[in-house]
Amino acid sequence: MQEQQRRQAQPIPIFVVKTGKIEHLAPVIKTDAEWKAILTQEQYAIARKLGTERAFTGRYHDSEEHGVYHCVCCGTDLFDSATKFESGTGWPSFFAPVSELNLRLVTDRSFGMTRTEVKCARCGAHLGHLFDDGPPPTGKRYCMNSAALNLEKVP
Ligand SMILES: [Zn+2]
Repeated sequence: MQEQQRRQAQPIPIFVVKTGKIEHLAPVIKTDAEWKAILTQEQYAIARKLGTERAFTGRYHDSEEHGVYHCVCCGTDLFDSATKFESGTGWPSFFAPVSELNLRLVTDRSFGMTRTEVKCARCGAHLGHLFDDGPPPTGKRYCMNSAALNLEKVP
């Protein structure tokens, strides 16, 4: 068990927007009780329990504010507002992350579909799903839950 915990705590490469560098940071590992204590009920249900907010209800789906979207659980930089686009889906959508290092992609076979789940690389938070029908230049659509994100605005 101790061996396993030590291995989980191995630093992982994460791109940090403020420094423009890849830094090696410890994974953020917490118990359900610890997550509950720092997240709202909605944030917990979505980010830790694979929930999905209802379309058009999140605080960022039509936001045009500038800044960097962080993981609501651990603060990892995830998306720059410059890559956000209006997808018409009712969820904040991006065509690229700040770095692919900061995300972990997992095959999700729930609800009889095969989809690509997007998780935070540092804390494992469920963020949303990735689709191949996004705009240029990547053709990707990172369909995120507002409740899993926290926008740090730049004036
Ligand atoms: Zn995170």
